[in-house]
Amino acid sequence: MKKTLTSLAMALTLLSPTALFAKNNVVVVATGGTIAGAGASSTNSATYTAAKVPVNVLLDAVPQVQQLANVSGVQALQIASESITDKELIQLARQINELVKKPDVNGIVVTHGTDTMEETAFFLNLVVHTDKPIVLVGSMRPGTALSADGPLNLYNAVALASSDSAKGKGTLVMMNDDIFAARDVTKTINIHTNAFSSPWGALGSVVEGKAYWFRDVSKLHNNSSEFNIENIKGDALPLVQIVYGSDNMLAQSYLALQQAGVKAIIHAGTGNGSVANYLVPTLTKIQQDGIQIVRSSRVPQGFVLRNAEQPDDKYGWVVAHDLNPQKARLLTALALTKTKDAKELQRMFYEY
Ligand code: ASP
Repeated sequence: MKKTLTSLAMALTLLSPTALFAKNNVVVVATGGTIAGAGASSTNSATYTAAKVPVNVLLDAVPQVQQLANVSGVQALQIASESITDKELIQLARQINELVKKPDVNGIVVTHGTDTMEETAFFLNLVVHTDKPIVLVGSMRPGTALSADGPLNLYNAVALASSDSAKGKGTLVMMNDDIFAARDVTKTINIHTNAFSSPWGALGSVVEGKAYWFRDVSKLHNNSSEFNIENIKGDALPLVQIVYGSDNMLAQSYLALQQAGVKAIIHAGTGNGSVANYLVPTLTKIQQDGIQIVRSSRVPQGFVLRNAEQPDDKYGWVVAHDLNPQKARLLTALALTKTKDAKELQRMFYEY
């Protein structure tokens, strides 16, 4: 008996982990971007057309992903991500929401252009209720270029989406071996493959198909979010736009947006989301007219401190805390589907 058990144990250790456990099912939802891009020659790493290659070709180029999981693909969009509007964002979230509800789907990979990947990741983080991993991935070089980064990024993304260790960690971005949280990742270099970073650091790394974790996200996301794609009607969000701060600004920029019918303006201010003294009358008037003013910062690290530099309590303004202007736009738009109260909006900025 003892001998039988020993040989059984030996046989089990000789088997690979994938032979011991059934593989998870991962759906790759393709949306375009450079990871689906093609250039004229292998030295065209920056001159190419994005959103060309269909999902089946992307998957066939990295057959190794099938060793990690049972991988299937769907073509949701074929677009360069700078052209994504709320319409595509809502449509994509609905499609992913239906996929994660399927019992035989264990994880999602979204291939995406890197330009607005952080926006899509944050939106999914806020509106898709699931603990299944949703992992966004892209590349900085098209597949036709020398040292294309897409194949390994895709391999790592499938590894992450099929890993039970990624469950409940929030929507993730997988780029250049790093695992980032959707809420704080941002594109910081537009010419190199280490294009993404977070002011608070990566959550972990994927090395040789295994995820290693070093921190967790402390903010609400996915299952714990009060927003839900199932409650969003139509194909547009309340209109929110961003004004970029600098010296020598024009009040007309804000007034033109008011004319255009915005419901909120994200002021991407200097420093602590500062507002020039000559703009204060315009921004307080606009707020009194019922348009939310959210102070964020053009500075990529740190956070905007409430009632510092400007008396937010007095003016009824909101601070974006550490969310960058483009993420503040999305959270504000979602918040406005539920409330018009600046205090409620402020609570959300602290909680997400
Ligand atoms: N413009 C491209 C996009 O975001 C850039 C990229 O994917 O890296 O779709």
